[in-house]
Amino acid sequence: MLVGNWKMFKTIHETRHFAEVLGRNVGKLSADIDFAVCPPYTALQVAKVVLPAQILTGAQNMHQAEDGAYTGEISASMLKELGVTYVVLGHSERRQMFAETDGGVRDKVEAAQTAGFVPIVCVGENDSEREAGQTMAVVGRQTRIALEKAAKDGDKLVVAYEPVWAIGTGKTPSPADAQAVIQGIRKVVAEVLGEDAASQVRILYGGSVKPGNIAQFVSQPDIDGALVGGASLDPESFVAMAQSM
Ligand code: PGA
Repeated sequence: MLVGNWKMFKTIHETRHFAEVLGRNVGKLSADIDFAVCPPYTALQVAKVVLPAQILTGAQNMHQAEDGAYTGEISASMLKELGVTYVVLGHSERRQMFAETDGGVRDKVEAAQTAGFVPIVCVGENDSEREAGQTMAVVGRQTRIALEKAAKDGDKLVVAYEPVWAIGTGKTPSPADAQAVIQGIRKVVAEVLGEDAASQVRILYGGSVKPGNIAQFVSQPDIDGALVGGASLDPESFVAMAQSM
């Protein structure tokens, strides 16, 4: 699975351009890979219309309430009308800059699945937690709490392991390190949702993935794909990553 997280990049106009270039290269995309891009809310509608059908869309966040007085927020039913398949939840930028909590992510996972979306739950340790040897404790806690109210169906869930220190920095863990953490995440999924769900759930690696390094991550036994920020903005590099998987 290859997912582009566009963050706060791309207008409607720029989204159309991305889709045009991708459309010319669609023959290079393997039918065995699930593709998605997650544009800002304002470009979700046009993305769904102009992207090739095999590129699904995801939102970058969602509010857990059905509706209400939540200025600036977007509900599941609003996303539903835009043909969204995935919703990224608990991205570290949201945890760090917008005060998202483990419990908040859990409530959003439940609401997203209830609405029929597949949440892409992001977990990851920061620099000091890694230095203190806390990686698995932090990632395990984030995963456990996020899944407390989740469906016991691994098809309805994606987890992305994104070490905070690797996001947008050009630094990455070694593929073996990423594999070890993701294997640990799969064990936590087994504890919370059962062995069947753990064997079905797709767990992605994210953080400074690019065409030149994606293969070494996705060739690891427990790594089912990549969640990519910066390198997913350029359609040619998106295609190059797809071809390297
Ligand atoms: P990056 O971001 O690929 O630019 O490091 C990844 C992410 O935040 O999902």
